[in-house]
Amino acid sequence: AAKAAGRGKHYFYEPAMHSEATDRQHLENDLRVAMERDELSVSYQPIIRAAGEEVSGFEALVRWRHPIRGNISPAKFVPLAEECGMIGKVGEWVLRQALHEAAKWPDRVRVAVNLSPIQFNDPRIVEVVQKALEVTGVNPNRLELEITEGVFLADSDATEETFTRLKKLGVRLVLDDFGTGYSSLGYLRHAPFDKIKIDQSFVRGAASVKSRNAAIIRAIVTLADSLKMDTVAEGVETHDDLALIRELGVAQVQGFIFGRPTDGAGALKLAQAMSVEADGHQCIRQPRQ
Ligand code: C2E
Ligand code: MG
Ligand code: MG
Ligand code: MG
Repeated sequence: AAKAAGRGKHYFYEPAMHSEATDRQHLENDLRVAMERDELSVSYQPIIRAAGEEVSGFEALVRWRHPIRGNISPAKFVPLAEECGMIGKVGEWVLRQALHEAAKWPDRVRVAVNLSPIQFNDPRIVEVVQKALEVTGVNPNRLELEITEGVFLADSDATEETFTRLKKLGVRLVLDDFGTGYSSLGYLRHAPFDKIKIDQSFVRGAASVKSRNAAIIRAIVTLADSLKMDTVAEGVETHDDLALIRELGVAQVQGFIFGRPTDGAGALKLAQAMSVEADGHQCIRQPRQ
């Protein structure tokens, strides 16, 4: 029986592998023209101040609507773009789109843009960011660049210099997916992060009784506090988790409980309705016309 199963597996395995490679190739080719064909867009997910319920900013998340396959997850096509040398172009486009939208929001509302490690380690990145800020006229302190621990794998002097130059531009740096990547904390000594984003894997279900995630989140908050970094928890879906996140002192929350990624128009409405005025008073929740 085992032999038969093995043979059967072999028989079906090869064609599957073949079609997966072809599939990849097709997708890569499609991605090359996706931008010109207007198939890419950017969605915005609100980031909320945990203490109140005001919008502190939005994370820009790239979307690809394939003409035949429909929506393809960035978790699938961003790595593809990285491998086929397109991430720089896609990333710059997302950055400009996002800043263009942010220019319409109240000044206190920030925009967070993800930078792939490949983008970050490209020597042109600082100029790309600077130029995008100039063109859109957005104050650099409203831009947050989300970077994962993956950037430290290159660990070159260039990486360190990029950090310094980006900080000089006045943008904020966020360490994304914290706790899941590179298993060393050494880089926190030098890298000038303004904020740590606690990965969803620690956040989801953190309130369940047996969860050790709460202890880990508490430790991350303590660490961030002593390093004078902000914190944000991503992937908050339930009221229980939200209550716990607040109790643990995480400063900001992002998750389906407050809002899914939405288009530019939706984000604008939310930004106007749910952001705090300069005097600290919350404005009416209805969008202003
Ligand atoms: P990320 O940067 O960690 O972004 C957060 C992801 O978690 C987003 O998925 C968001 O929709 C999702 N999310 C937020 N709250 C919740 C929640 O409460 N529950 C659940 N189940 N999910 C939640 P998305 O948009 O599919 O993006 C996936 C990843 O793709 C991102 O993870 C990021 O690594 C990458 N990505 C997205 N846009 C870009 C981009 O413009 N450039 C680069 N380099 N990477 C991007
Ligand atoms: Mg992110
Ligand atoms: Mg993340
Ligand atoms: Mg993630």
